[in-house]
Amino acid sequence: MSDESRSAETSAARLDSISFMGAEHHPVVIVGTGPAGLTAALYSARARLAPVVYRGPQPGGQLLTTTDVENYPGFPEGVLGPDLMMKFEEQASRFGADLRYGTITAVDLSTPPFRLLVDDVTPITADTVIISTGASARYLGLENEQRLLGHGVSACATCDGAFFPDVEVAVVGGGDTAMEEALFLTRFASRVHIIHRRDELRASRIMQDRALSNDKIEVIWDTVVVDVLGEAEVEGIRIRNVKSGDTAELAVRGLFLAIGHNPNTEVFREWLDTDEIGYIRTRPGSTATNVPGVFACGDAQDSVYRQAVTAAGTGCMAAIDAERWLAEREMPGATALPAGADASRPSAFDAVDQAG
Ligand SMILES: Cc1cc2nc3c(=O)[nH]c(=O)nc-3n(C[C@H](O)[C@H](O)[C@H](O)COP(=O)(O)OP(=O)(O)OC[C@H]3O[C@@H](n4cnc5c(N)ncnc54)[C@H](O)[C@@H]3O)c2cc1C
Repeated sequence: MSDESRSAETSAARLDSISFMGAEHHPVVIVGTGPAGLTAALYSARARLAPVVYRGPQPGGQLLTTTDVENYPGFPEGVLGPDLMMKFEEQASRFGADLRYGTITAVDLSTPPFRLLVDDVTPITADTVIISTGASARYLGLENEQRLLGHGVSACATCDGAFFPDVEVAVVGGGDTAMEEALFLTRFASRVHIIHRRDELRASRIMQDRALSNDKIEVIWDTVVVDVLGEAEVEGIRIRNVKSGDTAELAVRGLFLAIGHNPNTEVFREWLDTDEIGYIRTRPGSTATNVPGVFACGDAQDSVYRQAVTAAGTGCMAAIDAERWLAEREMPGATALPAGADASRPSAFDAVDQAG
């Protein structure tokens, strides 16, 4: 987005009608309580930055919508998604992170102190903002799809593929992600049906070739999923050919949606550089955005890995980046570096500052 189009409009215009006189001020405001935000909260609380953390519309983040998580390190027997996020919250709270209910609905990131509006009514200001608002998988919008989420319906083959050994599964989509997910699922499933609503794929030629030459993969063309079948677990799907109108049932035990994600970054886009989908661009090797003092972590800036552990990892980075940014400017709230941090290491913002 150009600087011109980022000028006083939408968020900023809305904030201009709000009085910030006497608004609460915080050194660090963290937006979102998924793995990224709660890890950032833990690190900045331990650095004595008294972070204030807003939970937003989905407290605990995406893992609240799943059951077993088997790939988060430290849980050899696996852990339920909601239980894992409860532990994240407890750990951040233990060190004093101030976890609050509320959604950030407008921001002015033109210069610190940054101005934020909570639930359209409460103004707050912050020296640094850590954005950890995640991304939402796109679903088909079927009632039974939502009911069976985490019980055979998934938007993440990396996360859930191993739960489907020697059974048939379906993948919905026609892009590179759908091909990647289908190929990954062939490691476990006996057969992978790609359901695609058109008669040709959007995926790159190389990904198409890899998928279509795999014996376990079959594409069902011109077809959409119209229902997900099963009481407690997925037992099948109902599909409809969009050309003939014919319907049929397919006995699959897993339904994987690979039709994209929406990064939850709308409220920040007028200020921050994003890619064409809306993922926040961060400086390579750091969580710095194009606005000094604003950092982004987790799925909101990651269209590639989208895992809890990578979200937590970048949450840690964001807290350290924010702490150093405050310390370098001797801003209120800046304290000693967290244990183990190397004060002599140049921060990501040295590059920003040198670039002017
Ligand atoms: C069904 C499913 C199963 C998964 N299984 C696994 C798995 O087994 N293993 C694994 O590693 N990963 C798994 N993932 C992926 C994992 O959940 C994500 O990578 C991870 O949650 C991303 O963390 P995050 O903190 O970036 O964002 P999220 O978890 O998406 O959290 C975003 C947070 O931001 C808040 N928020 C959004 N907008 C605002 C706003 N305007 N103001 C305030 N707060 C806001 C939300 O309320 C939420 O608290 C799964 C994902 C799904 C959907």
